[in-house]
Amino acid sequence: MNLPMRPAFVALGANLADPVIQVRAALEALAELSGSRLLRASSLYRSAPVGIRGQPDFINAVAAVETSCGPQEFLAALFDVEARFGRRRDFHHAPRTLDLDLLLFDDLVIDSTRLTLPHPRMHLRAFVIVPLLEIAPQCQIPGRGQAEAWLPAVSMQPIARLVGQPA
Ligand code: ADP
Ligand code: MG
Repeated sequence: MNLPMRPAFVALGANLADPVIQVRAALEALAELSGSRLLRASSLYRSAPVGIRGQPDFINAVAAVETSCGPQEFLAALFDVEARFGRRRDFHHAPRTLDLDLLLFDDLVIDSTRLTLPHPRMHLRAFVIVPLLEIAPQCQIPGRGQAEAWLPAVSMQPIARLVGQPA
């Protein structure tokens, strides 16, 4: 039986232990999730950490996937990948080997303890909006309109596309 596939977007971030390699490997891990397909991956970007000073820069990317999982099941699969990459949850905003956030899942709007969709801060973060627009320029954020309309709101946050890496 063919289960219906639904589109989703995932934000990847790492700022410990060779973050470029971590994010590339995480994209491969997303491609291998059962019941899911990696459709597009953005370039890698370098951004300054939010919340706490003195941490290393982050490497970020956004991936477009489609999956036959439901949203909670897909988030659990993302947590499994984080765990495999040795994610430490020492404190909120702690440096991390790998952070995977579920940005959008189809056009669902959910507000539960474990899962909020769309991701509640995605529209306020350059490291999400910029790579998201690279792979989905027409992207709509349910309840918040066109993703592109949020670019001015994040334009002061430093972010740079890494050069010399495969697109
Ligand atoms: P952050 O990514 O905001 O720095 P964490 O990754 O440590 O923080 O926090 C993740 C927590 O947020 C988890 O407990 C998870 O259940 C919850 N959460 C709620 N909505 C989402 C979402 N859309 N994507 C990822 N985690 C989410
Ligand atoms: Mg997270």
